[in-house]
Amino acid sequence: MKHWRAIAIALVCAALAAGAFRIFEHTARLQPALVTPKMDAQQALSPSLAGHLKRLLREQGIYGSRAGRPKLIALTFDDGPYPVFTPLLLDALEKLKIPATFFLIGHDAQHWPELTARIEQSGGEIANHTQTHPDLDRLTGTQVRREIVDGRTSLDALVKDPAIDLYFRPPHGRYTVGVVKTAQSLGYTTVLWNDDPGDWRTSSVTPQDIVAHVRRFATAPDIVLLHSGKLATIEMLPSLAAAFRSAGYRFVTLGSLMRAVPYDDVNHPAKHPV
Ligand SMILES: [Zn+2]
Repeated sequence: MKHWRAIAIALVCAALAAGAFRIFEHTARLQPALVTPKMDAQQALSPSLAGHLKRLLREQGIYGSRAGRPKLIALTFDDGPYPVFTPLLLDALEKLKIPATFFLIGHDAQHWPELTARIEQSGGEIANHTQTHPDLDRLTGTQVRREIVDGRTSLDALVKDPAIDLYFRPPHGRYTVGVVKTAQSLGYTTVLWNDDPGDWRTSSVTPQDIVAHVRRFATAPDIVLLHSGKLATIEMLPSLAAAFRSAGYRFVTLGSLMRAVPYDDVNHPAKHPV
């Protein structure tokens, strides 16, 4: 009899540990997918205990309805443009008829104006990834402002896309509340992501790794962080497209996704592993 009690206690402990791990795993990626100019940046980035709890309950589907969230997926490509890689990426996206969003570095766009123009011609959406790609959390407020404004000015001089003035993503995902507030004061929505499959880990990540991650952590809606200049990222696109399309997803630009879905639903998407 004692034997059974020990097994029962062990099972309960294992279940509790698994639950605790899930909460830890979730907490580790507790960041909003975006902060709009009208949101309270402090509250969005460091929610109160009540905010955390509400979010965890939503995540578990306990609080509020998450049914009927549109299966939209926005692929966002950071950095560049780069010779060779950017044309290869655009060719792959065009072939698959995937509209995508490109967070370009102002300095690189100036250096390769014909590549920047080609992104626009192919229907790609272009947004602001600063002028020189620094770690913004290490800069003063004035320097952060300059990076964002200069990035915008460089891109605006090359192409005409309203997204340049609307969407900003901090390099390396490094930001502070101050960085986000500066972006807000310039009219920007700071765009992070729902999933980061880690394609920036250059040598170790295979196309299969990337697809498996995006499928496992798929949400609806879904903003996926990817990078220009990575061969594995280009190679995985056909199987990613096939998997998500057969699961009923539609590929859209970030701007289309933002116009179609309430911001709160982007920050609290429904889980839909593909
Ligand atoms: Zn970057």
